Amino acid sequence: MLKSVSIAAKQPDLPFYAPVGSECEIFEHAYRNRLPVLLKGPTGCGKTRFVSYMAAQLGRPLYTVSCHDDLTAADLTGRYLLKGGDTVWVDGPLTRAVREGAICYLDEVVEARKDVTVVLHPVTDDRRTLPLERTGELLQAPPEFMLVASYNPGYQNVLKTLKPSTRQRFLAMEFGFPTLNTEASIVAHESGLPHERCLPLVRVAQALRGLKGQDIEEGASTRLVVYCATLIRDGVDYDTALRVALIEPLSDDPEIVNGLKRVAQIAL
Ligand code: ADP
Repeated sequence: MLKSVSIAAKQPDLPFYAPVGSECEIFEHAYRNRLPVLLKGPTGCGKTRFVSYMAAQLGRPLYTVSCHDDLTAADLTGRYLLKGGDTVWVDGPLTRAVREGAICYLDEVVEARKDVTVVLHPVTDDRRTLPLERTGELLQAPPEFMLVASYNPGYQNVLKTLKPSTRQRFLAMEFGFPTLNTEASIVAHESGLPHERCLPLVRVAQALRGLKGQDIEEGASTRLVVYCATLIRDGVDYDTALRVALIEPLSDDPEIVNGLKRVAQIAL
């Protein structure tokens, strides 16, 4: 019989997170039933904030790993290190999360090297085990352990997609940008700029997002709108804040940048 997973009382210091759909409920179901979750969506749309919020909500420690193309299985599981003349085993973040019953979040998991999937497979199916070849241990994940991964399918790099054998071990949730009003509330909360002054900035971001895949690889993220509003709240004029926070980060091509400025002016 499955041991029940306890969900701790709501934490007083919860990070701010504005839900955009039923993602919180789905995540709780996944946690209770020990199912790993994959969050798909563009950069800066709230995936990392969501995981921090859910970890706090569920009362679990969170280990976050930003994956990159040099990340190996040993970076996740651990390695022997020399300490004062002795060789000691040091757990990696995935091992620590398994031992402690924590949430392990692999941000941009497609960036990691292929050997990483080898350690993910047994821990993401019903075995829920983590073999540590170097120490000879076979760890059994406690019910509270959960693996969460994210990736951005928008980069359209055919070499960097997850293999079906890996992705079909996860529930998958699509993250998009919130509605105008919700996003303006998020930006207002994060920047301190009043809601009504955030609305036009979100409108500009929405217009720029419409150009994704044509002239720019990615539209303006909520993160960039927060930066823009933060500058304005700090006294920077609208034009400058828009240019450095919402336009210039999107492209290096002067012609495209000019086009984006025109789109922004029309949307304002
Ligand atoms: P991702 O992990 O998707 O790249 P983040 O979670 O880091 O993006 O989000 C970037 C920023 O945008 C956050 O630091 C937060 O300020 C803001 N943000 C985006 N969506 C939300 C949301 N739904 N609730 C609260 N803040 C959000």
